[in-house]
Amino acid sequence: MRKVLVAANWKMYMTRPQAVELVRQLKEELLASPHEAQVVLAPPFTALETVGREIQGTGWGLAAQNGFWEREGAFTGEVSFPMLVELGCSMVILGHSERRQIFGETDEWIRRKVLAALQCGLTPMICVGEILEQRDQGRTLEVVRGQLTQALGGLELEHGREFLIAYEPVWAIGTGRTATPAQAQEVHAMIRGWLGENFSRAMADSTRILYGGSVKPDNIADLIDCPDIDGALVGGASLKAETFASIVRLGRG
Ligand code: PEP
Repeated sequence: MRKVLVAANWKMYMTRPQAVELVRQLKEELLASPHEAQVVLAPPFTALETVGREIQGTGWGLAAQNGFWEREGAFTGEVSFPMLVELGCSMVILGHSERRQIFGETDEWIRRKVLAALQCGLTPMICVGEILEQRDQGRTLEVVRGQLTQALGGLELEHGREFLIAYEPVWAIGTGRTATPAQAQEVHAMIRGWLGENFSRAMADSTRILYGGSVKPDNIADLIDCPDIDGALVGGASLKAETFASIVRLGRG
């Protein structure tokens, strides 16, 4: 069985005092009433250590929003995966559409990052998704399949190395427009099929595929009811304790 996972992508929001406040409110919301979903928080780099300290004992996971594939060196402005591990991260978001579109990250870069993250023992959360024009042209499945092939095709994965896929249609991120459950399920099912063809049935069955794109308390239940949707990557709605906690509670397995 795949445990439902709900991850908060705080993007470039939250100073450290704001982060502490948000985590304290989340603990009040979530720790009193048991929830089934696994919770992961992805604050900006500057708040990772602080948030890691605040979530000790909760069982929640800590994720970074990016990282660089080299372990160390003259790479001004970059942060390596061993540095993220040192801060307590167990996961890292890779290939987010904002990284692809604003910072020009290519599929080749994302592949190198996926490999390096896995080698450091981090679980990559690999983001894929089409832009609106591609969906309108009926090319969604082809685009997402291409991104999967570029990021993961032909990789020799050591036994027990886990990764997650986040299907995030770009037209749904931060826009208030969500994919319908049927639209999301179609892509999730294709992703699971691709994992089966390219790795193994066991890996396809165990890999969690998250949906991201304007997830809110009023749409999570229908999304999570879909057989191949195993959780959510939540941006805007994760910045308020009450809304994120509602999503976590509704994200039942
Ligand atoms: C995201 O940043 O990954 C995301 C899905 O954002 P939002 O929930 O705001 O659409």
